[in-house]
Amino acid sequence: VHGTASADAAVAYIESRLVELGFAPRRQPFAVPGWWANGAATVAVLAPERRRLDAHTMLLSPGTPAGGEIHGRVGDVGRLGLWGGQHAWRKFAVIRDESRPSAFLCGRSNGPAIPQLLPPGSADIPHVVVGTDDTRRIEGWLAAGETVEVTVSSPAAVGPSIEAHNVHAVILGRGAGRVVVVAHYDSVWSSPGAYDNASGVAVVLETAARLAAAPLDATVDVLLTGGEELGLLGATAFVDERAAAGGLDAISYVLNVEGMGRGSLLDVWAGPENFEWTVAQAIRALPGARELTLRSTFPPPPGSDHAPFYDAGIPVAMVTFDDQEVLHSPRDLPNDEVMANMRLGADMIEHLLRKIDTAVSGW
Ligand SMILES: [Zn+2]
Repeated sequence: VHGTASADAAVAYIESRLVELGFAPRRQPFAVPGWWANGAATVAVLAPERRRLDAHTMLLSPGTPAGGEIHGRVGDVGRLGLWGGQHAWRKFAVIRDESRPSAFLCGRSNGPAIPQLLPPGSADIPHVVVGTDDTRRIEGWLAAGETVEVTVSSPAAVGPSIEAHNVHAVILGRGAGRVVVVAHYDSVWSSPGAYDNASGVAVVLETAARLAAAPLDATVDVLLTGGEELGLLGATAFVDERAAAGGLDAISYVLNVEGMGRGSLLDVWAGPENFEWTVAQAIRALPGARELTLRSTFPPPPGSDHAPFYDAGIPVAMVTFDDQEVLHSPRDLPNDEVMANMRLGADMIEHLLRKIDTAVSGW
């Protein structure tokens, strides 16, 4: 989480590992919003029954006024689209004064309460997320015509922006072509982030080690980004910098390594469609991937660091073993299944780099 010692430690660790491998990493600074969750939010239902709901403040949401609780009646609003509509959650208003909602309850569609990034345009009203079971409960009460009364409090605070850093190293190839391999090192305040996304960082660093030992023809930009959870801010800063330097055309394609979570369902988000096909065929040819279920999605949804590259017309592929059960939660801890999928992920990224021709066309 930016602005904490753990973010500084992550950056320092990534740099030291790249130096150890013989590369010369640089830090690319960029600004992230100054925002502090300051702990969990609370939602207490007072009617139609007394009940405390598990709750979190949505990322970048303002808190409730200093030390204050918001007390009001719950009304159905509709749906809340996240990550460009990639997720659609339920949304309820907490109403004290009819002219303006005092807070919003965001109802996660597939699991316990976890924070996600709010979309632009929702800055000034506190947003608190509740889990799917409690969402169903609220829907049920409202459908039965009950008056639902709650108090909400969130200790989040917004402050001046903070400087964050990408870490970038160039692995020079023997010939032509250029490829970017990226993973985000930031996490959300409510999670240790073992799978999302220390595992992706580990895969990229392992890839760098393998390329140090056996370089490609293509040059590889190794990019570990910050600010992903706050809106792909590090990846966007990198793309903007390359664009200003006239360097975007040189990039053949981008591989984005997201969480190597538990399970055997490998999600690939890729585009343009001919590149999606190329990537899927290459993964199917990897012996270690035979046991996997490959689920490929085109066009690539916008929810991770490949998006700013794709928007600039560059072919991209994101790979992840998605684990919605622990995503952004305190339960995202290291385990053997994540470790095994990290090994597989490193084999997969190396395989893709060695198999996919850098003469692929953009779109
Ligand atoms: Zn992630």
